[in-house]
Amino acid sequence: MQGLKFEIYNQSGEARRGKLTTAHGTIETPCFMPVGTAATVKAMTVTDLNETNSQIILGNTYHLMLRPTAERIADLGGLHKFMNWHKPILTDSGGFQVMSLANLRKITEDGVKFKSHIDGSTHHLTPERSMQIQHMLDSNITMCFDECIKYPATWNEVKKSMELSLRWAERSKNAYVERSGYGLFGIIQGGAYEDLRAFSIEGMSQLDFDGYAVGGLAVGEGQEVMFEVLNYTAPALPKNKPRYLMGVGKPSDILGAVMRGIDMFDCVLPTRSGRNGQAFIRGQAINIRNAKYSNDVTPLDSECECYTCKNHTKAYLHHLVRSNEILGAMLMTKHNIHYYNDLMKAIRDDIETGNLDDSGSGHKMVFGDGK
Ligand SMILES: [Zn+2]
Repeated sequence: MQGLKFEIYNQSGEARRGKLTTAHGTIETPCFMPVGTAATVKAMTVTDLNETNSQIILGNTYHLMLRPTAERIADLGGLHKFMNWHKPILTDSGGFQVMSLANLRKITEDGVKFKSHIDGSTHHLTPERSMQIQHMLDSNITMCFDECIKYPATWNEVKKSMELSLRWAERSKNAYVERSGYGLFGIIQGGAYEDLRAFSIEGMSQLDFDGYAVGGLAVGEGQEVMFEVLNYTAPALPKNKPRYLMGVGKPSDILGAVMRGIDMFDCVLPTRSGRNGQAFIRGQAINIRNAKYSNDVTPLDSECECYTCKNHTKAYLHHLVRSNEILGAMLMTKHNIHYYNDLMKAIRDDIETGNLDDSGSGHKMVFGDGK
């Protein structure tokens, strides 16, 4: 049985232009996945997601298992039906958020015991339980259950955690139920230590996953360290499988990571910062709360084709965001997701035309140091 089908039909340096096919449709890569934590991409309707050219969204196992529970979502026909989103969905394993949100965590060889941050109830998340939950959610791309440790950590700490994640990956693989058009991704750990990353890649490759994520980055190490880790990690991953950099990032992070061989990204930045008044536009990020926008009758980005830019001025958005109006969050988010998807489209076009460098249209959308 074929899980996911991945084809690469163009390459420019390490960058790959590909297509990932799932039971819920095809994803053009490199791609960005808006984060839909609690069965919603915050402030976005499904129509908005489609109109901003979103191809796949991410759901969070930790949040959904607590509320409304995976069992209820399964009873209601799975996450696609529940949300009325019929394109692909990737779910995380719950591991990262257990570490960052839950109270009274206890990590053992078996898994993680924790108390819900919502009502204090006790839960036990193991590789097997995480696979079961993601199956009930009907996620197209399931992530292995892994441990995410703090940054910075010593070589010994990272080694111990990476080895535990490898054992959990094997248990995840054994518990995962294969279906056509669905797949399971392994997660490479090893922090900023080249030998540990190599060890993790070796072990994960032997388990033969449908794709490989690079975990343990975007945790405060900075872009320079992240790119250095990608320089030795991405080329060592299996060539014919999709590669996903978890939790990244700023536009310049994404461009730089694509140039190092990454195909998939997710980040809360466009949604969260949109709700806070930050807009990503070609070549820069602006804060719409700034007083200088109070009389500005131009759109956020004159080249952007999104609903917000076609219908509203900066002055209006400035007023809405300053007044904490719900519509402000909706319009800003819509624009930011559209921008991220435009950025990925420009990057895909640049790979096809061999222009993924200083002259490419993707590069012109990016700000900051992203080479
Ligand atoms: Zn726009």
